[in-house]
Amino acid sequence: MAREGALRIEPIRGSVSDAEWQARVDLAACYRLCDGYGMSDMIYTHISARVPDSPGHFLLNPNGMLFSEITASSLLKVGLEGEILYKPDLPYGLHPAGFTIHSALYRARPDVMAAMHTHTIAGMAVSALKCGLLPLTQTATRFYGRTAYHDFRGPERDPSERDALAQSLGPLNYCILRNHGLLTVGESMAEAFIAMWGLERACQAQLAAMACNTELNMPPPEVVERSTGMYAPGASRRYGPLEWPGLLRKLDATDPSYRD
Ligand SMILES: [Zn+2]
Repeated sequence: MAREGALRIEPIRGSVSDAEWQARVDLAACYRLCDGYGMSDMIYTHISARVPDSPGHFLLNPNGMLFSEITASSLLKVGLEGEILYKPDLPYGLHPAGFTIHSALYRARPDVMAAMHTHTIAGMAVSALKCGLLPLTQTATRFYGRTAYHDFRGPERDPSERDALAQSLGPLNYCILRNHGLLTVGESMAEAFIAMWGLERACQAQLAAMACNTELNMPPPEVVERSTGMYAPGASRRYGPLEWPGLLRKLDATDPSYRD
């Protein structure tokens, strides 16, 4: 039941595959979580998911909906060359920079099933530091040495930017878009979200420490190396499966309309 004043969007549960519907629900949940945890930027960033059983197609937010409004049925279904395969009956289309960034990822990385991009204050601030992300905290060592950097060349509206972004990211799952923000990808929506959660907090902690006008206690290089090694892919459990169900329970307890 739509709340009064809410956008009216035709439910499409019955007209898409189970796999696509699950991807839609998880992506809509991620928009709500991103907003709920203070990581949204009104309508200016984007989170996406590949449609698992529809090669070359991915889901993206309509350009104009707040993250708190996103529902499973509201997400655009887009092809890698910008074809719109499904669009809700709303005056909102494809976000040009969103399409460029996310299509770049799905074109270049068959392993990527979901991607999240933010413009948080902490993410933008660390993206503007020449030193980038420092291994100052345990959380930061999860990302240190396995985060890509991509230089700012203006808003990513030109499809030619796609190759440059794919080249910067390479095989990594985390990227600091210099002078812009943060980007994470994963083999699931949960994995991309949990990565963003950690990267965001590492940036927040670094800025808080650097703002204290006192000497920073950088762990010795061998400790940083040991810690980053313990977070290496395959060395620890996969992030996501343990955290995601609880996050969905949290959403369901407050506002389950993301599932519509
Ligand atoms: Zn951006």
